[in-house]
Amino acid sequence: MSESKVAVVTGASRGIGQAIAIALAKDGCQVACLASKAENAAETVRQITDEGGNAIAFGADLGEGGGIDALVSDIESQLGTPTILVNNAGLTRDTLLMRMSDEDWQRVIDVNLNGAYRMTKALLRGMMKARWGRIVSISSVVGLHGAPGQTNYAASKAALIGFTMSLAKEVGSRGITANAVAPGWIATDMTAELPEDQREHVVKLTTVGRLGEPEDISSVVRFLCSEEASFITGQAITVDGGLTL
Ligand code: NAP
Repeated sequence: MSESKVAVVTGASRGIGQAIAIALAKDGCQVACLASKAENAAETVRQITDEGGNAIAFGADLGEGGGIDALVSDIESQLGTPTILVNNAGLTRDTLLMRMSDEDWQRVIDVNLNGAYRMTKALLRGMMKARWGRIVSISSVVGLHGAPGQTNYAASKAALIGFTMSLAKEVGSRGITANAVAPGWIATDMTAELPEDQREHVVKLTTVGRLGEPEDISSVVRFLCSEEASFITGQAITVDGGLTL
């Protein structure tokens, strides 16, 4: 991958996003590592720069409408025009629909879906001009198959797939691809609270006999962002160790 590519990874402070930022930096990208606060992404930046890469931390609450244009201007002035975007930031507010508050519904949609919409729209102009771009959004197997207690999360993750397919149809002629990756259970802070018996149950449901690691996802994202993946677009690629087979 060319040295000059600038990649934006949202939710890059930990877990899957951190692994993606590190993988793209290894491929020679300059990486804008986003988190809700810039200081949260400092550790990821340190790991990248220690290995000789180039990365800068940026902060913004992606669930809030304002500030995205200023954030993108800041990234452009410090690193250049991004042509790779990974919409990875996400959160859960799990509860049964009967008990769900409007706030919990709205917050999940705002961060997981509206955040991806805003970031993509803000960065698309630069990719159109460059006539090259890679947009990868991290969905979930829950967006494809559902899960009790996660109607808000499933709605946001399923919507990202429809978003991705429509976007792929809009921008393909400009050399831009848009894909989604749908992880199964990955060992991160998001799944750390899972009770041991549930963890064992999930592991048994996989064919490979383990939970996923962030690197299981970052390796796929890295490929989708590469030159070699130019003929793959509008796809939702499940990476779940056979969980949903
Ligand atoms: P994680 O460890 O909980 O990390 C979440 C990341 O999102 C953090 O970097 C966090 O930044 C950022 N974030 C959360 N709310 C934000 C906001 N309002 N504004 C900006 N950034 C925000 O999660 P993960 O497990 O790595 O998951 C990453 C993505 O993969 C998510 O979209 C998740 O839904 C998806 N996924 C995960 C799994 C899994 O099993 N782990 C499975 C399927 C899909 P801060 O550090 O600043 O809070």
